[in-house]
Amino acid sequence: MNSFNMPEEKFSIPDFDELGWLMASCDRSDVFRALQSDRVDVKGLAALLSPHADEFLPQLAARSARITSQRFGRTIQLYAPLYLSSFCTNNCLYCGFSARNKIVRKVLTFDEAEREAMILHDRGFHHILLVAGEAPARMGVEYLEEIAFRLRERFAAISIEVQPLETEEYGRLFQAGITGVAVYQETYDRRVYEYVHPVGKKRDFEYRLATPARVAAAGMREVGIGALLGLADWRLEGLALGLHLAWLRKHYWRTALTVSFPRLRPAEGGFQPLVPVSEKMLTQLMFALRIFDHDVGLLLSTREESRFRDGMVGLGPTRYSAGSCTAPGGYGEPAQSDEQFAVGDHRSMDEVCDSIFQKGFDPVRKDWDATFQRQESVA
Ligand code: SF4
Repeated sequence: MNSFNMPEEKFSIPDFDELGWLMASCDRSDVFRALQSDRVDVKGLAALLSPHADEFLPQLAARSARITSQRFGRTIQLYAPLYLSSFCTNNCLYCGFSARNKIVRKVLTFDEAEREAMILHDRGFHHILLVAGEAPARMGVEYLEEIAFRLRERFAAISIEVQPLETEEYGRLFQAGITGVAVYQETYDRRVYEYVHPVGKKRDFEYRLATPARVAAAGMREVGIGALLGLADWRLEGLALGLHLAWLRKHYWRTALTVSFPRLRPAEGGFQPLVPVSEKMLTQLMFALRIFDHDVGLLLSTREESRFRDGMVGLGPTRYSAGSCTAPGGYGEPAQSDEQFAVGDHRSMDEVCDSIFQKGFDPVRKDWDATFQRQESVA
């Protein structure tokens, strides 16, 4: 380990063909075994994600619901994204913010960002996720630091989903009051990764893959990983996610881990999913990961429709976004700039809370106080 607690050994992902062979070696008995064991290994995860598990979806759901209730109780945490900037230097084929798209772009001033945050605060949100395209010259560490200083007294938790940073930079942001970082690999399939990231810094697969480790090494309380569903085989993405989770758990056991399941949504550029993922497939993926890792937080965002999100309450997901707008400045003045993608659940925070409540669960607006973090930093 070096001074930033980075292990010498890096996480590496097997080739997708190798993951495919592992999955192809599973049969029905492996699914039975995984459903009955307390601790599921990688082979068990492969079985739960395999086509042999398709017919056992009700059993997967029941097991996932039981584990979720034991670990998280009858609660669902809520958060809202705050889009800071739609500028981006990358050309991801699937994204509305891609540099090649001719859209109205905007980066919020500090005052505008604070105003947007206070709108969310007044709607009852205490957890916010600051989101931006990857354009460090317009929105670098100093910018994020200033926003964090301005907001940290009023929010229980501030997370970011921005360009990958260096460990030292994450350390600075942690000191400023940011406690969580989401960084999705988009796809763990290197060939598809190269295809959908034709130019720009994001083309560096290895640098992105090592980012969650840099985040954890910097002392962040939480790291979020995920794959953008619709780019590659979802079963193999799930297996790769499981391997990534297990590696992070082994090396950074003090860091909370979450997984998101963004399915591709309509966006500027008109990109169509290369491998469509249905709601049924998405549920199998979530259940399998819950059975594999009992403590991981599972996020279900407003990309999904309200009908589906309501149906999933209690079965596995532990955190929902609500009342989301994906355009910078969009909470205060909806027509200011273009959005990253179209959301699927248009309900307000209160409507989402009501529906969670009616299912017998508690919508949690705050489960952490930033004061704890500052005490840790001082100690
Ligand atoms: S996915 Fe992120 S990096 Fe890629 S174009 Fe969109 S905002 Fe930029």
